[in-house]
Amino acid sequence: MGKIKVVSFDLEGTLVTPDFSQAVWHEVIPSLYARKMGISHQDATAAVIKQYNDVGDRRIEWYDIRYWFNRFGLDNYQKVLSSCSQRVCYYPEVAGVLSSLYGTFRLVVATGSTREFLQYLLRDIEHYFERAFSSISDSKQLKTPSFYLGICEAMSIAPEEMAHIGDSWQFDFLAPREAGVMAFHLARNNMEVRVGSLKSLLEFQAKLLEIV
Ligand SMILES: [Mg+2]
Repeated sequence: MGKIKVVSFDLEGTLVTPDFSQAVWHEVIPSLYARKMGISHQDATAAVIKQYNDVGDRRIEWYDIRYWFNRFGLDNYQKVLSSCSQRVCYYPEVAGVLSSLYGTFRLVVATGSTREFLQYLLRDIEHYFERAFSSISDSKQLKTPSFYLGICEAMSIAPEEMAHIGDSWQFDFLAPREAGVMAFHLARNNMEVRVGSLKSLLEFQAKLLEIV
């Protein structure tokens, strides 16, 4: 097995819980839309979610808060993000795992979240990471094999010298694996378990320490 030099983490669902994004997309945006359109919060929520689903997470617009503010005719997304900042929450094992891997590996974040979100989502853990790569903001793409190859190039390593973990089977397992990266699927939720899925970052940490 190749020697791993860089360890890459997905962000949302892997290091940080969905709470912040949930508050932005499913609470504050619907309430602003309700006020703008003069409709009930319930109707606004249904309308907004329908539009999110019509676009879907295979299109880069889905991740882009500026696109949605424009589409819904809303102003000042910065204020909305800032108003939700207290909702940023990390999974319980995250600080321990990052501090134990830090120093042994070079750590990076490889996320589909945009830069507008990163300043909030990384707030308490940013110091562990050498770099954070946003597929949407930096290279206008989803987390494709070429996104992962670009990270390896930026870090001056071969793909087999990188390990990546994340909670999306497509974006965090199949795509990096196709690029030659050693990928691990994280299934915190029992519903998403596949053969070989890991249940927490503690299992990932144990795997990494086995192979170095
Ligand atoms: Mg994720």
